[in-house]
Amino acid sequence: MSVWVEFELCNGCKRCLKSCPYDAIAIRAEKAEILERCTGCGACIEACRQEAIKTDVKARRIPDFSDYQGVWVLAETFDGELNSVTLELLGAAQRLADDLNQEVGVVLLGHEVANYVEKLGQYGAKNIYLAEHEILQRFQSETYSEVIADLVTTYKPDIFLIGATSCGRELAPRLARRLKAGLTADCTALEIDLDEKILLQTRPAFGGNIMATIASRYSRPQMATVRPGVMTAVAGVVADVKIINHPVKVPEKPATTLLEAVNEAKRKIRLGEAKIIVAGGRGTGGEPGFALLDKLAEKISAEVAGTRIAVEEGWVPVERQVGQTGQTVRPELYIACGISGAVQHRAGMSDSRYIIAINKDPGAPIFDVADWGIVGDMHQVIPEMLAQIDGEGIDGDHA
Ligand SMILES: Cc1cc2nc3c(=O)[nH]c(=O)nc-3n(C[C@H](O)[C@H](O)[C@H](O)COP(=O)(O)OP(=O)(O)OC[C@H]3O[C@@H](n4cnc5c(N)ncnc54)[C@H](O)[C@@H]3O)c2cc1C
Repeated sequence: MSVWVEFELCNGCKRCLKSCPYDAIAIRAEKAEILERCTGCGACIEACRQEAIKTDVKARRIPDFSDYQGVWVLAETFDGELNSVTLELLGAAQRLADDLNQEVGVVLLGHEVANYVEKLGQYGAKNIYLAEHEILQRFQSETYSEVIADLVTTYKPDIFLIGATSCGRELAPRLARRLKAGLTADCTALEIDLDEKILLQTRPAFGGNIMATIASRYSRPQMATVRPGVMTAVAGVVADVKIINHPVKVPEKPATTLLEAVNEAKRKIRLGEAKIIVAGGRGTGGEPGFALLDKLAEKISAEVAGTRIAVEEGWVPVERQVGQTGQTVRPELYIACGISGAVQHRAGMSDSRYIIAINKDPGAPIFDVADWGIVGDMHQVIPEMLAQIDGEGIDGDHA
């Protein structure tokens, strides 16, 4: 065992007992005894005034990371356009890089993707690490992680930010494992500790009941995935963007072979970019309720979304779930219909510019974040809204 008690020094004061987060100490015959479930965290060693608890685990030394420089963002493209999360991450990267006095870098991978360079420069990218090859035409986490790992080990960024999109969520853990780096998934806030010059990564934990702030002290780069819609894109035009062309080493035997690519049915718009969202929950009562939401959405040029319950019931597809385990959205207007406003739902929509809530329970928590609340049955309120919109000739541009 790496932690033990020198019995002749122990006075049985029980301070260690109280300090142990794992309940791994017992007092027997007025002496502390370390139990098998001890994790060696060292809390008891600090708590013991008698210096009776010893360990053979050496204090972990923080390596010298001074050659790791730069705040990097992984550029993601979709349908021939830069994914908006890339620009949002660049907004965050500019702020973090300023605090560290470092430069913003972007990893741009793909086949014939150099046309994105100008826009990346307009949003603050100073160094663009460009890896072009036809094998990178389609996202494939195995090949992408191999190429990106090569870039990281060559150029050594201090921080690496990746969008928590479906591709990012698949890629980031694989990459972190390959680089033996720490990774904080689904961050909602990023700050620099100005004393230690390390990245503080905040994310919801325990079902959204607490916010945990995590730091990767012992490895580089400090890696985080960030949900779309959380950070703000900031135009930060860089006049002299530097392009670093990186040769792609083609993996000899990829473990996965692409047999066929099936394009996802083209959606009108991605939820994260919608200006108006009409969202429904259990209170819609299912398909007839969502048919009303569809009508309202059509009238005011909105997108339809739902709570997790609505997704589980099959009323809306999973990519339209808003909340902690769904999407984070920040539209100009969010109309919540038959939604209670659980903390996990609010985590994804409370930053909307204006929120209208329709709920028949006046005590529903959704009213705490709503700018306007309508207490009533949505099956009566929405037809009334539709009639008024028809009567006044309101369309999406004037809603
Ligand atoms: C780890 C974890 C992650 C989660 N992630 C998410 C997430 O990403 N997104 C998410 O949404 N949830 C998430 N949840 C679930 C969340 O806790 C709630 O259970 C869920 O948001 C509730 O959905 P709801 O508002 O549709 O249903 P309910 O809470 O049942 O609320 C229905 C509301 O409709 C009202 N109502 C009923 N009939 C009418 C009517 N005719 N007219 C008007 N109002 C009416 C009721 O008064 C009630 O307030 C998560 C939970 C956990 C534990």
